Amino acid sequence: MLPQDLHIHTVFSSGDGAVVPQQTIDLIASVRHAETIGISDHVEYLHEPVFTDYAATVRKHGFRLGVEIVDNNDVDFAMSLPLEYRVFHCYDDDRSYANAERMAESGTPLIIAHPMALGTNLGRLPRECIVEINNRYIWRNDWSSFYTPWLNRFRFIFSSDAHQPNWLNQNVARYVGRELGIRETLLFGDRKQISVA
Ligand SMILES: [Zn+2]
Ligand SMILES: [Zn+2]
Repeated sequence: MLPQDLHIHTVFSSGDGAVVPQQTIDLIASVRHAETIGISDHVEYLHEPVFTDYAATVRKHGFRLGVEIVDNNDVDFAMSLPLEYRVFHCYDDDRSYANAERMAESGTPLIIAHPMALGTNLGRLPRECIVEINNRYIWRNDWSSFYTPWLNRFRFIFSSDAHQPNWLNQNVARYVGRELGIRETLLFGDRKQISVA
């Protein structure tokens, strides 16, 4: 079983065409591919009355409650919600870096989603950010030259970014992590905020 997967989409991401109807929170609970599971549906689809149902369904299974923020215009809404962590698309522009700083300072863990796919300049992020190795996108570009300069600056996590049941794995991301010598940070669990080999 994987130790942790905090970037997972479900049918609550109702406008995301990659999500299939079978990708329910109940199914993810049955598959149980990771010890610590966090659900991070797109926040733009979680305005009330949806959020209350979303939060209750996530918590019913003992999962961690997160969202993914794709648009800077949704940052204020996401910061108003009682979340355990946030996943953020940090584009290479001033407003995105300012929002990353604001969210990191809030104390709620901030995961920087697939930075290589978005062209995020890791040098402009606050050190408190947790940088993702994302199984959906990591193979597409030169991950070695992208991540190597920053290995000692940030904490890292592996994510599936699953939109479908058969994406509930991190095989390529973990291969990259081994090649880079990355130590995974576990955000939740008994040993809080520690790194393990
Ligand atoms: Zn994303
Ligand atoms: Zn995602």
